[in-house]
Parts: sequence; structure tokens; C-alpha cells
Amino acid sequence: MNALLDRLRACVGPTQLLTDGDLSAWELDWRKRWRGRALAVVRPGSTAEVVAVVRACAEHGASLVPQGGNTGLVGGGVPDASGTQVLLSLQRLNRIRALDRANLTLTAEAGCILQAVQQAAADAGLLFPLSLAAEGSCTIGGNLATNAGGTQVLRYGNARELCLGLEVVTADGEVWDGLAGLRKDNTGYDLRDLFIGSEGTLGIITAATLELYPRPAAQLTAFAAAASLPDCVALLGLAQARLHAGLTGFEVMNRFALDLVARHFADLPRPLPQAEWTVLLELSDADGEASARERFEALLADALERGVIGDAVVAESLAQARALWHVRESIPLAQAEEGLNIKHDIALPVSAIPGFCAHTDAALARAFPGIRLVNFGHLGDGNLHYNVQAPEGAPAPDFLARHEHAVNTIVYDAVVAAGGSISAEHGVGLLKREELAGRKSPVALKLMRALKTALDPHDRLNPGRVLAGPTK
Ligand code: FAD
Ligand code: ZN
Repeated sequence: MNALLDRLRACVGPTQLLTDGDLSAWELDWRKRWRGRALAVVRPGSTAEVVAVVRACAEHGASLVPQGGNTGLVGGGVPDASGTQVLLSLQRLNRIRALDRANLTLTAEAGCILQAVQQAAADAGLLFPLSLAAEGSCTIGGNLATNAGGTQVLRYGNARELCLGLEVVTADGEVWDGLAGLRKDNTGYDLRDLFIGSEGTLGIITAATLELYPRPAAQLTAFAAAASLPDCVALLGLAQARLHAGLTGFEVMNRFALDLVARHFADLPRPLPQAEWTVLLELSDADGEASARERFEALLADALERGVIGDAVVAESLAQARALWHVRESIPLAQAEEGLNIKHDIALPVSAIPGFCAHTDAALARAFPGIRLVNFGHLGDGNLHYNVQAPEGAPAPDFLARHEHAVNTIVYDAVVAAGGSISAEHGVGLLKREELAGRKSPVALKLMRALKTALDPHDRLNPGRVLAGPTK
């Protein structure tokens, strides 16, 4: 192993190879659920250095775990406990390579922080719409490797829809330059889409060409209070009918989710009285603030008149709008403060969501009296974070150790019965690979294994993630 360490040191320089001291920033995941031990943390500064690292690892038979901002929630970006894996941090690949105003594209290296990409687009008077609560620390490479979703999906799509091209280092250390900023290209199999969402198991993303949009002239944000999930779904239908593509955000939060935010972040505003459900709506308008406000207020008045909502408030300023988003985005942090929890990132047809929740809430309450549901998410695109917190006062680690599997079975059986997906936007990683193996069709799993074997025949890229068991 010393020979490999010497080679890696030569690839990236002695200061960018870390083997000693506290490496928990790379070895421990954001939720503190998975702690691994790396042979070394390697921090290349260019695509050429990534190539050199991959070739060195291939020659020494070592496996690599790519990592960006280490904000993933499924244990996909931290090494295993063997002490033999090389943690490949892409954070130093952080240059914006190009911005093409006429083509509405930006080319960024994989380690660019999402917020920096948003800012580079804003500096050019344009919009990069991918937005999620981890945007201050997650990277473009990680966003694409997990096909991240976030809060603007109902208007602009997932990370996949915002990516026109990739540069990838393959398992044997070749560079595939697919960075062309084309919106049409039917020259065979879509390699870009293969790497997006592959969670570091098929190739290492080193750069991406991303799609930009014109900035809306005005953006308004509102909170609305609803008595039930069917009412939230009715509000969504009304908002889509009246606002069309202007509806850029539609988030729901159950009462307990907002209670947790109030408990752990007492200085955040609570602009509406408590309701069973609170909806955050965002309207983007090309014509300006006055037109936006008129359309938004007409929608909310209509919804009030129909009894779909009981109350609503529209932010009066950018600061107020940010505060409303901040409340929504604080839910995962408040949950982490409350203690370890069981996360379910699920997708369902919007029409199936009220029935799914009624059935599953009741089944969980019967099986685990006192269980607390933190249910929130992106209702506009049918994605719920249907999370389970141990009963008040029950030690969370103990509850998880004893009941996580049974809770998951109840939730995922209901998801599958309703035609949904067990991973909407966070990916599979370690957390869901057994569920995937048990629930994905045998044909789909066979095709996935065939792809893995073709692109990474020696199982060196993030082994054991997504697909359970050896793929060699
Ligand atoms: P990491 O955590 O470093 O890695 C994630 C995976 O990608 C790992 O499997 C890793 O091996 C692989 N990977 C990383 N970089 C590369 C690369 N360059 N090439 C190949 N593989 C790579 N996700 C959503 O989709 N929507 C949300 O709304 C959302 N909200 C979040 C809120 C919070 C508070 C947090 C902590 C996370 C949230 N996430 C959300 C999770 C989300 O998946 C990540 O934040 C983000 O997409 C991961 O980026 P990262 O750079 O941190 O990747
Ligand atoms: Zn989310």
C-alpha cells in the first residue's frame, strides 16, 4: 500500500494527499450514520490529475470513492471501514470554465459549489434554477451523480434536465469529453444520461455543461394553510391552472415538521397560525412585480373562496420571501437536532398521495404507537420526504436498531402498491441497495449489472453502492 500512496502523492503533490489526523470531514457522512476509514483522501486539482489517480488505483487494484460536498443522505460518498479505499475528493476542481450567453449555457468543473454556479449565472443576468437546502456546500458533480431534485423541479426539472453535457473520467482512466452544449444530439446511446444518477459507480464526473434560463422579472412567495392533503392537491391543481409555467415552487409541510422547526429554531418566523398542512408557493413572472402580485392574490382569493385553504400570506419583500424559504429548508436540520430518524424519499403520482398517506399514517400508528411523522416535500412533483421520528422520549438509536426494517417494509410496500418509487431524489447509496435488490424488477437489475460490468469491469468505482453484492 505504501507504493500506492507514493504514486498518489506524486499525482497530486504531497499537500493534497491526506492520511493522518482527523479525516471525519470526508469519512463521516452528513447524517453521521456512516463512518468509514479511507486509505487516503486524495484531492486532485485538474482532470489530468484525476486521470493519474484513477490509473494509479487501477494498477494497484484499489477502489475509489468519489466525493463532492459530502451532503448526500444515503451513505454513497463515504468510504467503507476496510481502510483500503481511496477517497477521491473533487472539491478542488472548482473553476467555471465558460459561460455562453447566446447558447444559455455554463460549463463548470465538478467541484464547483452549487451556490457558486447559481451566483455565476446571476452575475451574467441569468438563472441556474437547481436549488436545494444543501446548496451552500453540495457540488455540481454530486448533484449530477445523484440526479438531485430540489425545489424548482416542477418548472425546470431535475439536475438531469439541466445538464447538456459531461466530461467523465472512466474506470480505466480515459477522458470522455461530452461537454458539447447541444440541445439536440441523436448520435447513438445517451452516455450523459447513463452517468447522471449513477452515484459514482460508472465514472467520475469532472465537468458539466449546464443549461441556464432568463431570470424572471419578479418572484413572489406565499404560505397557505390547508386542512388536509386532498386540499393541498386541490390547491396545486388550481395554481397550475391559473399560473401555468409561472408556478416554480409548491412545497408542503405537515404540522409536526413546522413544530420541530419552531422547537429547534425559535427565532424563525411562523407567519400563519398552526394548520394541519402549510403550503409554500412560489410564482415567477416575466412581466414584473405588479403583474405577479395580482395573479398570486387572485389565485389565493379563489382558493379561499372555494374553501381549499383557510388562510394565506404573501411575502412583502425579498427578505420576507427568503425567511419563508428558510423555514421550509430548516426542516431537515430541525429533524437532525431532534435525533436520528428514518428517512423515506419517495415519489408517487400526485393523485395517489392523499390515499397513500391516509393508509400509511394509520398503518404506522397501529404498529408503533406514538410514532411521529415528519412529512414534507415537493408535492408539485409528487415527491414526499415521509420521515419517521421515534416516539417522544424514546431513544432514537435504539428505536432505529429495533424497528427501522419493519417501518421501511410498511412504507415501501405502500409506495410500490401505489405505483411509486422508493428513491425520488436522494439516490440509493448504501441506505437503499437491499431494498432496490428486492423491489426492482429482475430485468431492470440485470440490465443495471450489465452496464456496471461493461463500464467498470473490475468493480473499482464506488463498489457496493447502488447494486448490492460484488458486480465483478
Ligand atoms: P456527495 O455527498 O459528496 O456525493 C453524493 C454521491 O455522488 C456519492 O455516491 C458520491 O460517490 C457521488 N459523487 C459525488 N461527486 C461525484 C463526481 N464528481 N463524480 C461521480 N460521482 C460523484 N437532494 C435533493 O435531490 N433535493 C433536495 O432538496 C435535497 N436537500 C438536501 C438538504 C440537506 C440539508 C442535505 C444535507 C442534503 C440534501 N439533498 C437533497 C441531498 C443531495 O443528494 C445532496 O445535497 C447533493 O446532490 C449531493 O452533492 P454532494 O456534492 O454533497 O455529493
Ligand atoms: Zn427534497
